[in-house]
Amino acid sequence: MKFGGTSVADLDRIHNVARHVKREVDAGHEVAVVVSAMSGKTNELVGWVDNMPKVAGSNAPFYDAREYDAVVASGEQVTSGLLAIALQSKGVNARSWQGWQIPIRTDNAHGAARILDIDGSDIIRRMGEGQVAVVAGFQGLGPDNRLATLGRGGSDTSAVAIAAAVKADRCDIYTDVDGVYTTDPRVEPKARRLKKIAFEEMLEMASLGAKVLQVRSVELAMVHKVRTFVRSSFEDPDAPGMGDLLNPPGTLICDEDEIVEQEVVTGIAYAKDEAQISLRRLADRPGVSAAIFGPLAEAHINVDMIVQNISEDGSKTDMTFTVPSGDVNKALKVLSESKETIGYDVVQSESGLVKVSVIGIGMRSHAGVAASAFRALAEKGINIKAITTSEIKISILIDGPYAELAVRTLHSVYGLDKS
Ligand code: ADP
Ligand code: ASP
Ligand code: MG
Repeated sequence: MKFGGTSVADLDRIHNVARHVKREVDAGHEVAVVVSAMSGKTNELVGWVDNMPKVAGSNAPFYDAREYDAVVASGEQVTSGLLAIALQSKGVNARSWQGWQIPIRTDNAHGAARILDIDGSDIIRRMGEGQVAVVAGFQGLGPDNRLATLGRGGSDTSAVAIAAAVKADRCDIYTDVDGVYTTDPRVEPKARRLKKIAFEEMLEMASLGAKVLQVRSVELAMVHKVRTFVRSSFEDPDAPGMGDLLNPPGTLICDEDEIVEQEVVTGIAYAKDEAQISLRRLADRPGVSAAIFGPLAEAHINVDMIVQNISEDGSKTDMTFTVPSGDVNKALKVLSESKETIGYDVVQSESGLVKVSVIGIGMRSHAGVAASAFRALAEKGINIKAITTSEIKISILIDGPYAELAVRTLHSVYGLDKS
């Protein structure tokens, strides 16, 4: 059972979480729980670190990533202890665990570490003795024997990884919505809850902006075949059906063969804060792309959509690509440093764009899905700046202020608001 930030936002909510856990324990299940920090806490901790003195001559804060981790991992330590106390006060045998105590071994990428291995033996033994393990999410122990955090939203990944390590029957991700919806219900109130969604689709939804699950948690669930449900902690813990063993209320993330009636389009996701960079009048010759994207990769800048024009005269062309808005200045600096080797006339950039994506496994076998999206956006007067597609998704880059309109337009064009 994993509980996110809003689910443990204050002491009342933590007591409510304890009631959900007690329900499962009373039904005779062995339970491990993963908790996030109280909502807003991690942002506050990250803000403190970001406000430390800046490195001379740069606007990067002065800290090394190990100390960032030491600070931001602390929010989960607090909630794991508080939930253990709340459970004990309800007569449930419970004990808190920090990542290093289990241990959850990670790689050395402080701030965005990946879980390498979890020794589940201690918590399995304690669970066998009837004790609930309350594990601090988001954190593990790096090869340097120091706290490492798993990237924002990482408690989802802690939960799925622990479920895999203890060979759990189920991993329930409790949050502030009662499942995965056809799009973010905060943007489109007509969004519908999905009964099931395939791993591949959930991976695309998450990586294209639906933050309901961290991308890495979906990858792990897919690889280790963890039955993962997204469900609400805000419902009454003792309402009918809440303790259902096989079909608890919520959305099951599963293999595509388990989904009988596959729609063409399953969902719409959006990602804000994208930026577009264009290089004008580049030499159209072998090696230009390598000259551009090599140095950007070395600077750890994540390039997403890439569009190259066909050159009119066979000698000059234009190249456009997107990066996260926060990386624009860094990217422009890298590009100006490599101006000689790349050989371009001018570079232009625009921030505050949004990428809206249409996702569905059914697209593999249906034509015309993209055309309907373009027509619908055109009818609303929304200009498309770039497009990328894969077998199961179409992503469209547009101006920021049109984000909500575009999401709602696409949501209705594919009939997602009709049950
Ligand atoms: P937690 O703190 O529990 O980890 P998050 O805020 O990380 O919760 O994720 C839950 C939020 O994800 C929801 O409140 C919702 O606004 C957002 N969300 C975005 N896309 C979707 C979607 N397709 N289905 C459900 N929720 C979504
Ligand atoms: N508290 C961490 C964050 O906000 C991890 C999580 O909530 O999943 O990113
Ligand atoms: Mg989350």
